[in-house]
Amino acid sequence: MRRYLIQTFGCQMNVHDSLRIEEVLSAQGYAATDAPELADLILFNTCSIREKADHKLRSAVGTFRELKERKRDLVMVVAGCMAQQRGEALLDEIDLVDVVIGPDNIAELPELVGHVRAGGPPVARTVFDLDAPSFLQAHAPTDRHEACAYVTVMKGCDERCTFCIVPYTRGAERYRTSSEIIAEIDRLCDAGVKEVTLLGQTVNSWHEPHESAEGGSRFAWLVERIAREVPKLARLRYTSPHPRHMTDALIAAHAELAVLPAHVHLPVQSGSDRVLRRMLRRYRRQDFLERAAKLRAARPSFTLSTDIIVGFPGETEEDFQQTLSLVREAGFVSVFAFKYSPRPHTPALRLGDDVPEELKSERLERLFEVADAQQAAHLQSLVGSELEVLLEGRSKTDPARMTGRSQRHEIVHVAVPPGLDMRGKLVKVRASSAYKRSLVAEAVEPWPRLPPVDAFPPVEAVQPARKQALRLPLVSS
Ligand code: SF4
Repeated sequence: MRRYLIQTFGCQMNVHDSLRIEEVLSAQGYAATDAPELADLILFNTCSIREKADHKLRSAVGTFRELKERKRDLVMVVAGCMAQQRGEALLDEIDLVDVVIGPDNIAELPELVGHVRAGGPPVARTVFDLDAPSFLQAHAPTDRHEACAYVTVMKGCDERCTFCIVPYTRGAERYRTSSEIIAEIDRLCDAGVKEVTLLGQTVNSWHEPHESAEGGSRFAWLVERIAREVPKLARLRYTSPHPRHMTDALIAAHAELAVLPAHVHLPVQSGSDRVLRRMLRRYRRQDFLERAAKLRAARPSFTLSTDIIVGFPGETEEDFQQTLSLVREAGFVSVFAFKYSPRPHTPALRLGDDVPEELKSERLERLFEVADAQQAAHLQSLVGSELEVLLEGRSKTDPARMTGRSQRHEIVHVAVPPGLDMRGKLVKVRASSAYKRSLVAEAVEPWPRLPPVDAFPPVEAVQPARKQALRLPLVSS
């Protein structure tokens, strides 16, 4: 049997693509391995959203130089955003690479690998499927006992945020039909999935492919239809929404549909109108705060998290102060923040990179100080309260505990008797203490008398792509 090893970098979109790659390879009789020595195919699913992606890829590929020289039939593949961005050039730049494949070409992977195995030269395929968009379906993970799954609803991005390379690496927006999305969610639920995350670069700009974009987002209608037609689905998340498409109808859906969480990750990027204009975000600070206030009013204890870039070209101390005040005003319980780094092909390149590195680091630290204090206060406020947690796997550091997520996406560690496999189960717990970024909790009701599972794999044994999903930030919009 042939074996593959996948290394995934970047956002949840990439994690999702890695899962689809695994499925394409499994259908060809491949099995996953974590041991490079056993692999016949090593694939790097790359990200180019931040600086140093190039360096990261070269160093990851270089790790296997000795193995590749020894094992001549080992096929090395580069997929993802870097593959799309650099295309054929990567084959010249990194001599160990046999196949370069773009996100829209995953289904062609077996064909390209076959071509190389048959003695053909290294090959690149990075063509956007703009005319006839195809979405690789998720096949129900029956052997993985997974509680959570991703379902793509759209791909590409028509926004033109000046710092972002995504429109270049993922192309224009293309949408999947509601019937296809619902059929996939239905199949996943039949296989035991409890929580689905709808994925897209600007997920809430979704509309049916045959509808005109002029009619605006129909995402609220889509989530209502999913709630109605797949009642066995326990939780429905989505990432990443763009603030511009956070419509009143979608906010109302959060108030009305129990399947939607009392939480949204809504990337703001900056709190300064001047910087938002230069980023071409197409909303103002006040617009964002109004939407945040409406969301928080939609359900009791509604929480928000966000993405922020510090040190964008031209960002002054006054601009940064505006970001800090917005973080306080919006009351984010979690903030993913990054220092601005110029990316190839992005309009912001023309603005220079005039905020010194030390100042970016200093601002990032000050931002984390505010965000961490808010997160700590939020988690502390939950101690003593009851939560519903979807358990995902045994804790990596403490085998006496399982880790899961609350409905509002807080990470919760729950003491579970050894040998009891509760993966994929929703349990009621009471939070007993708070760490910096997570909660510790005990079950409210006695554990069921399930037959113990002796060979129950720890989180480490979960498929590689899924394992990463437990600790990755959300895809930025
Ligand atoms: S940040 Fe998000 S919305 Fe803006 S261009 Fe990138 S993917 Fe599109």
